[in-house]
Amino acid sequence: MSSPDIGEAEQEAVLAAMRSGWIAPLGPDVDAFERELAARVGVAHGVALSSGTAALHLGLIVLGAGPGTVVPTSTMTFAATTNAIVYTGAEPYFIDADPATGNMDPALLRTALHELRASGASVPAISLGATHAGRAAGSFGSASAVSFNGNKIMTTSGGGMLLTDDGDIARRVRYLATQARQPVVHYEHTDIGYNYRLSNLLAALGRAQLGRLDEMIGRRREMRAAYKALFSNVRGVEVFGAAGDETDNAWLTSILVDADETGWTPAELSAHLGDDDIETRPLWKPMHAQPVFAGARGIITGAADELFRRGLTLPSGSALTDEQRERVLTRIGGFLDGRR
Ligand SMILES: *Cc1c(COP(=O)(O)O)cnc(C)c1O
Repeated sequence: MSSPDIGEAEQEAVLAAMRSGWIAPLGPDVDAFERELAARVGVAHGVALSSGTAALHLGLIVLGAGPGTVVPTSTMTFAATTNAIVYTGAEPYFIDADPATGNMDPALLRTALHELRASGASVPAISLGATHAGRAAGSFGSASAVSFNGNKIMTTSGGGMLLTDDGDIARRVRYLATQARQPVVHYEHTDIGYNYRLSNLLAALGRAQLGRLDEMIGRRREMRAAYKALFSNVRGVEVFGAAGDETDNAWLTSILVDADETGWTPAELSAHLGDDDIETRPLWKPMHAQPVFAGARGIITGAADELFRRGLTLPSGSALTDEQRERVLTRIGGFLDGRR
C-alpha cells in the first residue's frame, strides 16, 4: 500500500555514512539532515529523533503537557498520537473529523477550547495530525512533529523530527532526547531523559530520501490522478480529499464508498484485491472507539466513524512500478465491470 521507496542513491548514502565511521550514533549526517529538512519546511530548527512518536512526546513535554493538563487531538489518527499525550500524564481529548478532509474539525476544536478553558482546564498543546494549504506542513504552531516510519512519504526506516522556530524548544528537546546529560564528562543528570536521537546512518538515508522527495510525491500524485480517472464515472465512489487541494502531498489515496449507491462495500473491493495479493486498508479506526481509550472525553459527531465505515485506502506508494500500478488499476476495473 505504501512501502519504502529505496534505490541506489539511498544505498550509496548509507554506505558512505558507514564507511565514514560515524556510527555511534550521532554525526554529521544528523546535523545536515536537521538543517536540510528545516530549510525545506521553512523553520529555524530541526531535532532528528528516533521516531515521530518521540518527537510528539518531547514536543508535548516542552510545551507543558503533563498531569492535570488536557491535550485536544484528532480522533481519526494513529494511536501513537494519543499515546504520546498519555506518556506525559496529560488527558487526551478527542475532536471529531471534518467530513470533507478527515482533519480535526476546526469548529469543534474552537468549541472544545472554549469549554475546556471555561471549566478551568489547562490546555498547553493541541496535537494535530494533518496539514493545510499555503504553508509547508511542519511550519505551524510552536513546534511540529514529523515521522519517517517505513510507510510514510519519505523514510529513514524508523525516525522522526521535531521542527520549530523556537531555539529554546529545540535546545530543550535535544537535551531530553540525549538522556538529559549535563555538559560534563562524568555523566551528571538533573532531569529524567530519553534515548530518542536518530542514528547517523539513518540520517544519511533520510538525506537521500529528502533529495528525492518531490519525485516521490510526483509518483503518488500520478497514482491519485489515475484513481480519479478510474472512479470518475462510478456513482457512489468519491476519491477522498482530492477536491482542489493541490498542496496535499497525496501520501495515501482513499476512496469513500456509499454502498447504497454502488451496490458493493469497501470490504468486498478489498477482498477482491486481496485475492490478487494487492494490499488495501480501511481508514483509521477512531481513537474514541479504541478499547484502550474508552472513557476519554471529547466532541464526537460521528464524522470519523462514518469515514471509517465508508473508507478504503488503495495502493499509493511511490515504489510501485508502472507494471504494478497497471495491475492494480486493471484489477479494480475488472471488479467495477463485474458489479455494474
Ligand atoms: C506515523 C504517525 C505517528 C507515529 O510516528 P512513528 O514514527 O511511527 O512513531 C503518529 N501520528 C501520526 C498521525 C502518524 O501518521
